[in-house]
Amino acid sequence: MSSHLPRIAIVGAGPGGLLLARMLHRAGLAVTVFEREAGALARLQGGTLDLHDGGGLRALGEAGLLQAFAHIARPEDQGNKLYNRHGDLLFDEEDGADGGRPEVDRSALRQMLLDSIPADTVRWGQAVSGAEPLDDGRWRLLLDEGRGASEAFDLIVGADGAGSKLRPLLSPYPLQYSGLTLLEFGIDDVDAQHPEVATLVGRGKMMVQGEGRALIAQRNGHAHIRAYAVFRVPADWALRRFDLYSPERVQAQLLEEFAGFAPAFHALLQASNGFYVPRPIHALPVGHRWPHRRGLTLIGDAAHLMSPFGGEGVNAAMLDAAILGRDLTHTLTAAGDWDAAVTLAEGAMFERVIEAAAGSADAAAEQLSHDGEAFALEHLMQHQAQRLQPTPTHA
Ligand SMILES: Cc1cc2nc3c(=O)[nH]c(=O)nc-3n(C[C@H](O)[C@H](O)[C@H](O)COP(=O)(O)OP(=O)(O)OC[C@H]3O[C@@H](n4cnc5c(N)ncnc54)[C@H](O)[C@@H]3O)c2cc1C
Repeated sequence: MSSHLPRIAIVGAGPGGLLLARMLHRAGLAVTVFEREAGALARLQGGTLDLHDGGGLRALGEAGLLQAFAHIARPEDQGNKLYNRHGDLLFDEEDGADGGRPEVDRSALRQMLLDSIPADTVRWGQAVSGAEPLDDGRWRLLLDEGRGASEAFDLIVGADGAGSKLRPLLSPYPLQYSGLTLLEFGIDDVDAQHPEVATLVGRGKMMVQGEGRALIAQRNGHAHIRAYAVFRVPADWALRRFDLYSPERVQAQLLEEFAGFAPAFHALLQASNGFYVPRPIHALPVGHRWPHRRGLTLIGDAAHLMSPFGGEGVNAAMLDAAILGRDLTHTLTAAGDWDAAVTLAEGAMFERVIEAAAGSADAAAEQLSHDGEAFALEHLMQHQAQRLQPTPTHA
């Protein structure tokens, strides 16, 4: 490998940043990850993610992590149920185990990725507020609201998610509000404490919509359900509508919102563990891109935030990381031009994510529309038909 190896920093220890760190470490390259959270489990890492063949699973293959993933994957939790608001089951695919999209808890995925790199790779508790170019062409990160700065790096990769602090250095585009706001809540120990809710949700995900609102609930590991009440409202509506300082009030307010829904869905709302998080859903414009700037790039949500309704975000982030990591290490092994490799990887990423970003934007636009229920049913049936298609055999 070239003796002039670039010093590389990654901002963000999410799935994209950590997978890139793994790719670089595997190729013998030193890398430092700056993460604002105090530690791996400083914050609840959110719900369950499904990894796809051409996305997260391919990325894990590139990173040599498929075996490790098999220990944390939940292939048994790929089922789907769609109800109408009266409680009638419109679609039921309980046995989704061969759906090819195994679920994994976000915290388990993070821990697996952390276990695949040296422990001192991540500098926890380092909130990046920006970066500044140096006269010699390198960059340094601004830390702690600009009160501190990192050492100089040749290449900084922003994997710092939706609210990326590095994006403004490359792109003038702000996030766009999708019109949808989720109110997230959890249900603990569902099998033992709320068996009727466990049956309602099944082994995977359930959705019900009507009267311009929806409920989505999804089984996570450890008998936990993560659920979302979905509304098409102004971005600050949830803060005004719900008394977030009082879990009891929020539960009562949600029951008011879903008064026209069957009692089974009220039981779901009543099983909440009382932690409510409003999530206005934003996205970057489909086709988002920027002119290349030496030494600075973005991957994952920082580069192409999409609505979660397409279920593609983490897959795209991990694939960005795997491909950038692969191309960088190949180029460096051949003593090639690493900046040219970054430029090429950026261009390929811009093209690759367009379809997923457009699909996610369409999916968000269809949510809670007058034919939202029909759209959801059609989508589930298409997905099932694809899954049931016989795998072609070669003579
Ligand atoms: C409710 C919801 C449900 C979702 N469901 C799915 C799904 O089912 N399937 C799917 O594919 N995708 C889903 N997504 C999208 C998915 O979570 C993201 O696309 C994915 O996590 C992006 O990975 P990332 O590494 O780019 O960013 P992130 O996962 O956001 O990680 C960014 C990391 O950077 C850190 N960071 C942020 N700012 C700074 C800073 N200034 N300084 C230092 N560190 C910083 C953060 O703490 C975090 O650790 C969902 C998203 C939401 C909101």
